[in-house]
Amino acid sequence: MAQPTIFERIIDGEVPARIVYETADVCAFLDAQPLAPGHTLVVPTTAVARLAELDADAHAALFAAVRTLTPRVEAAVEADAMTVGINDGTAAGQEVPHVHVHLIPRFSDDDAGSIHAITAERPTVSDASADAIAAAIRP
Ligand code: 5GP
Repeated sequence: MAQPTIFERIIDGEVPARIVYETADVCAFLDAQPLAPGHTLVVPTTAVARLAELDADAHAALFAAVRTLTPRVEAAVEADAMTVGINDGTAAGQEVPHVHVHLIPRFSDDDAGSIHAITAERPTVSDASADAIAAAIRP
């Protein structure tokens, strides 16, 4: 059996964390190395690495908690906005292989940019290629 991730150990109470929300389906706690004051991680209690591995109920519970917590975190640190994001997979920068949503408070003067800053240059995608990609995504 795979070793439990650090997030399972936090959920199980083995590793301390500043827990801010807890239900049977979701646990949220402050990030230990915050990108901004109040940086919060919202984590399903189901231990899977990728978002698509969550069943519909766990997915709904996760995003209900994100909806509840986003304004609370923003208010707690008097932020001006929030970046809400998921590193979904190793190539996307995911380090802990247990789904988690980052709630990152943003301030008008933080100069951190938007999620568009993850790539320095945008690729050229032809119309034909975009048509094919869209067709592959559609059900
Ligand atoms: P990822 O790169 O996987 O999307 O983000 C993992 C996040 O988990 C990082 O922001 C990191 O600071 C946070 N993290 C890693 N280990 C711990 C820990 O032991 N406690 C807490 N509270 N956060 C952690």
